[in-house]
Parts: sequence; C-alpha cells; structure tokens
Amino acid sequence: MQDVSGIKKFHEERFGREPVLFMAPGRVNLIGEHTDYADGFVMPAAIDFATLAAISPNPNNNATVSSVNFGVSVHRSLDEIGTSGSHHWSDYPFGVLSILQQEGIDVPGFDMTLDGNVPLGAGLSSSASIEVASMLAMLHVAEASLPLQKIALLCQRAENDYVGAPCGIMDQFVSCCGAADQALLLDCRSLEYRLAPIPKHLSLVICNTMVKHSHAGGEYGTRRAEVEEGTAILRRHRPEVRLLRDATVEDLERWGHEMPPNVLKRCRHVITENIRTVAAADALEASDLDTLGRLMAEAHASYRDDFEASCREADIMVELAIKQAGCVGARLTGGGFGGCTVNLVESANAERFATNIAAGYKEITNIQPEIYQSHASAGAHRLTESAVLSKK
Ligand code: ADP
Ligand code: MG
Repeated sequence: MQDVSGIKKFHEERFGREPVLFMAPGRVNLIGEHTDYADGFVMPAAIDFATLAAISPNPNNNATVSSVNFGVSVHRSLDEIGTSGSHHWSDYPFGVLSILQQEGIDVPGFDMTLDGNVPLGAGLSSSASIEVASMLAMLHVAEASLPLQKIALLCQRAENDYVGAPCGIMDQFVSCCGAADQALLLDCRSLEYRLAPIPKHLSLVICNTMVKHSHAGGEYGTRRAEVEEGTAILRRHRPEVRLLRDATVEDLERWGHEMPPNVLKRCRHVITENIRTVAAADALEASDLDTLGRLMAEAHASYRDDFEASCREADIMVELAIKQAGCVGARLTGGGFGGCTVNLVESANAERFATNIAAGYKEITNIQPEIYQSHASAGAHRLTESAVLSKK
C-alpha cells in the first residue's frame, strides 16, 4: 500500500509548499473491443491502480512537472507550451495544459508532482490516468470546474493532438466516471452510459502476457481499413449505415458475400461484439454470471478467429484461466496482439488463480507474467490525507 503522505512529503521537500492531491485510475476493458471507432459499445471498469497528482501554485509564470516514477522534473514557461509534444512523458501533463489554454482557461504558474502505480505501457491506460489526474489538479489551481465528461473529452484531445496518439474516448471516460464495484457500459456515439454492478465477491485479475507483437501498430491500421471497407459495402445498400454501429447481423447475411472474406470476418466481429457488450451489461445487472462468462468466451473467440487480433500467448493465458476454480470469465483485453487478459475470478480463489496461471504460463511459454489483482474502483477525485492507494 502506498500512502498518499509519500507524494505529499516528496512535493513539500521539492517545492516547499503544501499540495492539494488528486487521483485518477487506470482501467481494464471487460468487453467491447474495436467497437469504439465504429460508434459502438464498450464496457470497461476503473481499476485500483492510479496516478496521483500533487499540485501547488507558484508565483512565477511557469509550470514544473515532476514524475516520481521517472525521477525527473521538467520546467516550462506558461507561454511556451505550444500545441504538440516532444515524445517525452511530460507531453501528457503539458498536453493537458495546452488544451486548457486553448479552451481559454487561465491556469496560473504551478508545481506538480505525479506518481502512479498503473503499469506503464501495459494496456491499462496509465496515459489516461496521468492526463485526468493532471487536468483535475490544473483546474484546481485555475479555480475552474468542468463536468467530468468534458474533462474526459479534453484529455482525449490532449492525447490525440498534443501527444499524437489516436486513442478513442473509452480510457479517459472511465477514468473520470468509473465507480466502485461497477462496470461502465458506454455508448461511444452519444457518450451516454450506465453502471452495471460487479458482484462484491468477484475480483478483476489482470494477467500481463508480457508480449506485444511488433506488427501490432500496422495491423491496427489494417483492421480499421477493413472495417471501413465493409461498412462502405453495407452503406451502398442501406445508406443509414454510417458506421458498423448501425449495421445488423442480417445485413451481413444479405450482403456479406460482396465482401472479401477477411473484411466479412472483421465486420462480423464488430457487429456481434456490440451485441455481446450490451448483453454483458444486462447479465451483470441480472447477476447472471454464467451468461457473462459465456459472453466473455465468445468475445475472445471472435477476437481470435474473426478479428484475428489475438496471439499464441494470449490464447494460452485464456485457456489456462478458464480451467481454474472460481473463474467466471476470461478474455484478451485491449488493442490486441499481446498485452493483458482480463479475468473475473471469485475473490476467495484469486490468489490461487494467480499462482496457477503464473506457473502454467511460465511452463508453456518460458515467460514470467505479471499478474495484477484489482477491483472495480472509483473514478477520478480529490484525495484526502487518509486515502491510500493500493500498490501491486
Ligand atoms: P498505457 O496507457 O497502456 O499505460 P501508453 O503508452 O498509452 O501506455 O502510456 C504510457 C506513457 O504514459 C508512459 O510511457 C509515460 O510517458 C506516461 N506516463 C504514465 N504514467 C506516468 C507517470 N506516473 N509519470 C510519468 N509519465 C507517465
Ligand atoms: Mg494509453
């Protein structure tokens, strides 16, 4: 457990002023993969790994951001933030500052310390968590407030425009609006959402395959192009199909033969994934864990066979998981070609689950996985001193 007094002390020693503290969580996606850019549905949960931001105003016209994780501080004049980054971790907080400046919010000089325990680059969105924590902190010193949904959209803009990463809205949205013990079903078109309760006796166990296949970047673009190609074919017959969100399984049955085989498979994944994602929220609401587990299994199979975005290591991880006692559901989560699996596991079995998976995976692949135990947790908020942050 990491006490928030650690970052507070660090900040006071470094900057000589008492800070105000904020936190924003990382996230894991329970179901709904490659549906966001088709205006579809996703169902992530915020996890109890987070980035903390400690902030205090300074009387100068400059901003200093300091990362405990990297042991580095970066100092900039408020007039020199610009509109694009320099491929450095400080792009995330400065990107947030740039977007606030573009929105006409007058952020005064400040010193900010960042400290996170979301594994970096593991697909659990440490990037959204550092953005959202930074934005809450900067809004505080600017004495401004914005609705959480607007904060999510502005943080997404910071990542898209300043950092230069073309992410959807899911990560920032759930980091802002997540809730303890709840998954969040998000309609990526309207940004309406509803919370669905995760039973208290279940844990979210996240297993990191520790692989990210190098072709992942290129394949992501290919998948998007294939989805667009299929959408255009359906649109010729039904002009109201703007994106695959608007298409049905019946549409594919009627016109899928006009598509190249791979395009048909990609579209089938997205269309059926949308259906599964809404059904998974309904299953959670009805406490129907058998249906939820089946939907997660179907989602993994669709991701593997139709979208072809899984990999040997992720398939091994999921195969091992579903054989374990107390495992309700398991699937590859995130953009694909490696990264993490998400597992819903009865808490009483979670430790043994982690031990067995780690041993089994190491034996087959010779790779030592990282396994993170979590629960669905609250979205971003201001912290009091008694708050603690669980550390892996
Ligand atoms: P993910 O979001 O899956 O963790 P990304 O590549 O999108 O992976 O974002 C990770 C990057 O975010 C890190 O390489 C770093 O630049 C930045 N970052 C996240 N948390 C911190 C932190 N506490 N301090 C400094 N930089 C951070
Ligand atoms: Mg990220």
